[in-house]
Amino acid sequence: MTDTLVFCSGPDPFDAWRDALAPLLGDDVRIEDADAVTDPDAVRFALVWMPPEGFFARFPNLELVINLGAGVDRLVARSDLPNVPITRLSDPEMGKMMAGFALFAVLRHAREIPHFEAAQARKEWAYRHPRAANEITVAVLGLGELGAMAATEVARQGFDTHGWATRPRELPGVTVHCGDDALPDLLGRADIVVCMLPLTPATAERLDTAAFAAMKRGAAFINLSRGEVVDEAALVDALRNEHLSGATLDVFTHEPLAPDHPLWTLPGVLITPHLASVALPKSAAPQIARNIRAVQRGEDLVNEVSRMRGY
Ligand code: NDP
Repeated sequence: MTDTLVFCSGPDPFDAWRDALAPLLGDDVRIEDADAVTDPDAVRFALVWMPPEGFFARFPNLELVINLGAGVDRLVARSDLPNVPITRLSDPEMGKMMAGFALFAVLRHAREIPHFEAAQARKEWAYRHPRAANEITVAVLGLGELGAMAATEVARQGFDTHGWATRPRELPGVTVHCGDDALPDLLGRADIVVCMLPLTPATAERLDTAAFAAMKRGAAFINLSRGEVVDEAALVDALRNEHLSGATLDVFTHEPLAPDHPLWTLPGVLITPHLASVALPKSAAPQIARNIRAVQRGEDLVNEVSRMRGY
């Protein structure tokens, strides 16, 4: 019997993923869209992004769930997830895209672009002398696959770059801080805080009123990971009372962001619709094929997710 890989994603195009994977998987793995599965019993692998309720129950012989993205919060929180290994994408191209966006957002605040945009709207020549990168402290919260690339990219530009994670590690140009106790001090010294934390039970609303209060007056906040890591009401308050000078936000508790949400119109805030980085079929396909082969041959998986940690 030929093994089947079932594909299910709202935003990602089936044809592009099939075309990238087919040459790597050959004839012994059939690739089928979830709506057109010919033999559910033959499905051993699922490549999914937020599949609908009841999806997994259709495939009794699943052996591997591949998350079509880096963030697995929505997958691991499901009660209907089968008890099989879960892998995520860990794609250098995805990392580059994220690091580029993080650098853009850091530069937006470091070079005071919101100030110049506001001045331009008033047709006002509002010179502010730029500060050197090494005088500006950036804290990157979360140093995972994407967070570490973002932090090293920021460090490469010469910013005084700090990172926060649960465990120590060496990252070029980045001073690494670990554990809950280290967070308030780190937030207090940063001019720009970049959130790259996965959403887990331990990180939900981790950026709350106390965390924003711990930040320097005039600091800027960037969130590129998950909206639910932030208490959005606390963020709105910190922006309204000008404790924070601005924010660059790509992710929100409820997406799309509601038209009447205060974040749309607060000064210094840039809203982008969850696109800091996306999975790219060509560059991600080899690691997906590698994990499918590993299951077929009984070898170790790469990029496996810990259900216990939630990332
Ligand atoms: P990883 O899962 O690889 O790494 C997570 C990092 O967060 C690790 O460094 C981990 O520490 C740290 N961390 C987790 N929990 C805690 C905690 N309680 N306290 C301190 N540190 C913690 O994530 P990635 O870097 O690959 O991606 C980050 C997130 O980006 C994804 O989870 C996803 O939600 C989001 N994302 C957003 C996209 C967008 O377009 N906006 C696109 C893709 C992803 P340690 O290393 O010590 O374990």
